Amino acid sequence: MNKIFLSLGTNLGDKEANLETALLLLSEKVEILKKSSHYETEPVGYKYQPWFLNMVIEGETELCAKDTLLFIKTIENKMKRVKIVINGPRIIDIDILIFGNEKIETENLTVPHPRMLLRAFVMVPLFEIAPDIEISGRKIKDIIGNLEGEKICKRN
Ligand code: AMP
Repeated sequence: MNKIFLSLGTNLGDKEANLETALLLLSEKVEILKKSSHYETEPVGYKYQPWFLNMVIEGETELCAKDTLLFIKTIENKMKRVKIVINGPRIIDIDILIFGNEKIETENLTVPHPRMLLRAFVMVPLFEIAPDIEISGRKIKDIIGNLEGEKICKRN
């Protein structure tokens, strides 16, 4: 079994329902062990779009990293994610943050996720469910302390 952390985000339609649907589809191949609260977050990059609803989960899966990415893409396609603008609105975005102790750098997959350390919408929910985790040798507490930070607001 591989221990994994995934981030989920949505800013179109019924955002709560989108997260629930994504979790249900994920649970076909990922045993979900922990779920963060939901966080309303300011868009990064392209600002002219609704705020996102984000969360992070910890899970276990028999899939390898490459197959996990394919599985996630299948879920995004099932939920009819359409990409119009880079960093633009989306029904669902699922990223692999951490995959066991693996360090992966291929054309299609980089793990740990390269931008996660900069994003409050990832680090704050991750801290909630894994306060002692270290990423690339850095304690999450120290990473969070140094975030410049887009606005983020805990929902539940
Ligand atoms: P985005 O739509 O911005 O989430 O980017 C999607 C693309 O990023 C995917 O098609 C993946 O091939 C690539 N990618 C690279 N590393 C990761 C990762 N750790 N998790 C998810 N997607 C990744």
